[in-house]
Amino acid sequence: MTNSRVPGFHNLSRADRLARISDLTGLTHEQTAHLAAAGPDGELADHLSENVIGVMSVPLGVATNLIVDGQDVLVPMATEESSVIAAVCNGALACRDTGGVTTQADDPCMIAQVQIVGLDDLPTAQAVVQTQTAEIARRCNECDPMLVELGGGFRDLDVRIAGPFLVVHLIVDVRDAMGANAVNTMAERLAPWLEELTGGTVGLRILSNLADRRLVRARAVWPAAVIGADTVDGIISAWAFADADPYRAATHNKGIMNGISAVALATGNDTRALEAGAHAFAAQDGYGPLSRYGKTPDGDLAGEIELPMPVGIVGGATRVHPTAQAALTIMGAENADRLGRVIASVGLVQNFSALRALATEGIQRGHMGLHARNVAIAAGASGGAIDRVARAMVDAGTVREDLARSLLSGGQD
Ligand code: NAD
Repeated sequence: MTNSRVPGFHNLSRADRLARISDLTGLTHEQTAHLAAAGPDGELADHLSENVIGVMSVPLGVATNLIVDGQDVLVPMATEESSVIAAVCNGALACRDTGGVTTQADDPCMIAQVQIVGLDDLPTAQAVVQTQTAEIARRCNECDPMLVELGGGFRDLDVRIAGPFLVVHLIVDVRDAMGANAVNTMAERLAPWLEELTGGTVGLRILSNLADRRLVRARAVWPAAVIGADTVDGIISAWAFADADPYRAATHNKGIMNGISAVALATGNDTRALEAGAHAFAAQDGYGPLSRYGKTPDGDLAGEIELPMPVGIVGGATRVHPTAQAALTIMGAENADRLGRVIASVGLVQNFSALRALATEGIQRGHMGLHARNVAIAAGASGGAIDRVARAMVDAGTVREDLARSLLSGGQD
C-alpha cells in the first residue's frame, strides 16, 4: 500500500470496500473470503459503524454459579482472553455457601459538563448560575419528555471552577439508558442560554465519563473453610500490594475490568465508557485498587468493590444488536440497575479468582491450559490436534509456537 487516501471509500458498498482494501493491501484470497463471510452480522455492522469491511468475532461464553442479591444469574461474557470466564465461574462457586454477592447501587445519574470560557469574575458567574437551578431543570427536562415520563430527568446542578473555566455540571437521572446522548443533548441545548446568563462563551458540552454519581458497590464473603485460611491471608496481602503500589494497582484493576468489559461487550454496552470511568475513579485519591479485602471476625475473606456503572439496556447498540438482546435475556436483566449490579459482582468475583491464583499457585498454571490451545491453533493445529498438542506442551512445561509446530509435524496428529 502506498497511499492511505481512498476518496469515496465510505460511499462504496461493504463488498466493494473489501475488494478495494484487498487490492490495496494484498490480502490473500482466504483472508478476503473470511472477511466477506460476515453473514447478517456484516449488514448490522454496516449500520453501527463506518467504512465497515467485515466483522471481528469475539467468543461469547456464559459464566455459571453466580448469585447476586439472592438471585441466581447466568452471565454472558464476550472476551477473547483465556481464563476470564472460568475465573468468574470458580469465584462465584466459592462464595455460594455465604449467599453469593450482595450489592448497593446509586440512582442512575450521569453528569454532563458545559465549559464556559472568557469570564473575568468566576465566583460571581458561579453564584449567578447557582440561582437558576429551577430554570435549568425545566430546560433540561424539556429536551427529553420520554425520560421524564419514565421517572428520570434533571436531578441536580453543580457549578465548579476548574482553572480559568466555569464548568456547569448537569446531573441527570437517565433511568435504563447509559445516557451519553441523552445528557449531551441537554448540555448542547442549554449552552446558548448559559452564554446569555453569564456573558461568557460556551466551549465543550459533553458528558463526563467520571460517572461518580452512578456508583455500584458489591460485597461477598469467601469462607476460609472453602478456600483455606492461608489463601485468605494471601489474598489480603495481594490486595495490600495493590493498595501500596500503583504499578500493581493498574494490573489489579485490569483484571477486574476483564470481567466487567466482557459483560459490557456481550450486552452491547460502551466498554470504553466503563473503563474510563473505572480508572478515573480509581485515581481520585492517587491511583489505587477498585476493590478491597479484609478478614471477617470468623476468619473468612470479605471482599468489596465500588465503581461507576454507566450501563444501559436501551440506547446505543443494546437494542439493535441481536446478540446483546439475547445476552440480556440470558441474564434476565430487565433494567439497567440489575445489569449494573451483576456487572459489579462479576468484577469482584473475577478479581477474587485472579488474586487467589496469584496468591497460591501463580496465574500461569490455570492460564496455560487455555493459552496452550491458542498457541496450538496459531501453529496450525485443528480438530482433535488442538487438545493433543496443547496437552503435550503443558505436560512439557513449555508453551511455545515453535514447539507446537514441531509436535504437529512430528506426526502427533
Ligand atoms: P440513546 O439516546 O440512544 O437512548 C436514550 C434515550 O432513550 C433517552 O434519552 C430516552 O428518551 C429514551 N428511552 C426510552 N426508554 C428509556 C428507558 N427505559 N430509560 C431511559 N431512556 C429511555 O442512548 P444513550 O444511552 O443516551 O447513549 C448511549 C450511547 O452514547 C452509547 O452508544 C455510547 O457509546 C454513546 N456515547 C458515549 C459517549 C461517551 O461515553 N463519552 C459520548 C457520546 C456518545
